[in-house]
Amino acid sequence: MTRKGYRRCARCERNRAERFFAGKRGRICATCKRKSRSQASHAARVQAVYGLGPGEYDALVAGQQGRCAICDGTRRQRLSVDHDHRSGVVRGLLCRRCNGRLLTAARDDPALLRRAADYLDSHPATRILGREVYVGSAPMKRGYTSPALDKRIAD
Ligand SMILES: [Zn+2]
Ligand SMILES: [Zn+2]
Repeated sequence: MTRKGYRRCARCERNRAERFFAGKRGRICATCKRKSRSQASHAARVQAVYGLGPGEYDALVAGQQGRCAICDGTRRQRLSVDHDHRSGVVRGLLCRRCNGRLLTAARDDPALLRRAADYLDSHPATRILGREVYVGSAPMKRGYTSPALDKRIAD
């Protein structure tokens, strides 16, 4: 039983106030309606822009378990369709950060990204100087940099 003035949404199965439903017979809440409309228009857009067929964007999302193919991140934002700008081939779904920043900075070059990974694993400064030199007075935890310090260096 649902409380008086409330109705159970047939899609999200939440009990929501009557005002979220259209009319007396509405079965889907306004939030779910808005979501399915925006999903439908997104599907139409990716089909038109990237040449994906009906249901193929959803198939990619499901095949990637809803995760960015690079960082494995699940974000609230929809995953972007990443494509090779030269050949036009659709490569997969990426989060905005990996698609927009990581690949753009790396100029879509796999060899450059492999060199960047090698660089992060083995620091030339340590190899050349024969010792680990630390920024600041005390060794910081690996991977940690202070925002204040970054700003000082950038200025
Ligand atoms: Zn709902
Ligand atoms: Zn990512």
